[in-house]
Amino acid sequence: MEQIKMVDLRTQYLRIKPEIDKAINNVIETTAFIRGPVVKEFQKKLENYLDVKHVIPCGNGTDALQIALMALGLKQGDEVITANFTFIATVEVIALLGLKLKLVDVKPDTFNICPEQIEKAITPNTKAIVPVHVFGQSADMEKIMQIAEKHNIHVVEDTAQAIGSDYFFDNGTTKKLGTIGTIGCTSFFPSKNLGAYGDGGAMFTNDDKIATKLRQIINHGSRIKYYHDEIGVNSRLDSIQAAVLNVKIKYLNKYMEARQKAAEFYDNAFADNQNIIIPFRNKKSTHVFHQYTLKIKNIERDSLKKYINSKGIPAAIYYPVPLHLQKAYKYLGYKKNDFPITEELTRTVLSLPMHTELSKKQLEFITNTILEFVNK
Ligand SMILES: *Cc1c(COP(=O)(O)O)cnc(C)c1O
Repeated sequence: MEQIKMVDLRTQYLRIKPEIDKAINNVIETTAFIRGPVVKEFQKKLENYLDVKHVIPCGNGTDALQIALMALGLKQGDEVITANFTFIATVEVIALLGLKLKLVDVKPDTFNICPEQIEKAITPNTKAIVPVHVFGQSADMEKIMQIAEKHNIHVVEDTAQAIGSDYFFDNGTTKKLGTIGTIGCTSFFPSKNLGAYGDGGAMFTNDDKIATKLRQIINHGSRIKYYHDEIGVNSRLDSIQAAVLNVKIKYLNKYMEARQKAAEFYDNAFADNQNIIIPFRNKKSTHVFHQYTLKIKNIERDSLKKYINSKGIPAAIYYPVPLHLQKAYKYLGYKKNDFPITEELTRTVLSLPMHTELSKKQLEFITNTILEFVNK
């Protein structure tokens, strides 16, 4: 059996090596390293895939979130609401822009931001909500959009973990996650579901004016070279990464299915176990399993992790510390027990190896080893 990895990018690469190598070499041959035609090609492909009017590629997912908030014209002190249970990037950019960060607890089943708590956190100064589709499953977008419309505030979707997921509205329409709010953001960090071979990110919108603004901000606030209409940044998807993504986007649906198949295997193995809660699947979206995350009950999560690690099975805790208890965010003034669900999750969640190359043998070994420990 091959060594089990949390994410196996090498095996995935070897399957498409000739295509990838050729695409990268082609960029080197043409030396169009920055703003080359392959970036535009990827932009079009992703626009088609997502069925969205504008994709604006940029340097990484964190930049995407920052630039999205900049494009909405928020002023220092404006309030932005987001989930407490997410990767630090989501809140970092809010803080960096001098916006007032308002954290909200998540739901115990989906781990996603709780719409009722959003309503409670809204004030006249609230200008945006940033729902995070954590681990690859949608936040409650239909409710969130209703709340946002009622209060006339923007929604910026953090789709870094959920690219490709479909969202089903009550009226029968379907949209890809990231194309529902004012702006959607994603990351092409190598381990993400659509991963480059370095950093990369993108923003999506159906709004022409906002698209123009986003394109201007990523390019030093400039539309005509050396004329700067506003303060911008330098954040570009480089051509070599775009070349890799042009190959990988063809396989995105296949990759998604491989992840879902592995998740199903895990689900079946653990479904009846009283010490393990398998990932909840909401009916309004497809779960693309960026992470396969269990909740461990009755037994110590950390001893289980230690045990399987000792058997050569990697596992990870996303996320071990709630954002409101992170040193850097002490200034927000939150206390322990302010977010009971998030705090509980940080104690009980355990993410198992999840990628496109897991073999049946590996899955059997992982599930058997876990069951061996929890049934002891
Ligand atoms: C990965 C990630 C980001 C940041 O993406 P980078 O490309 O690493 O900057 C933001 N939000 C979430 C939820 C993520 O998982």
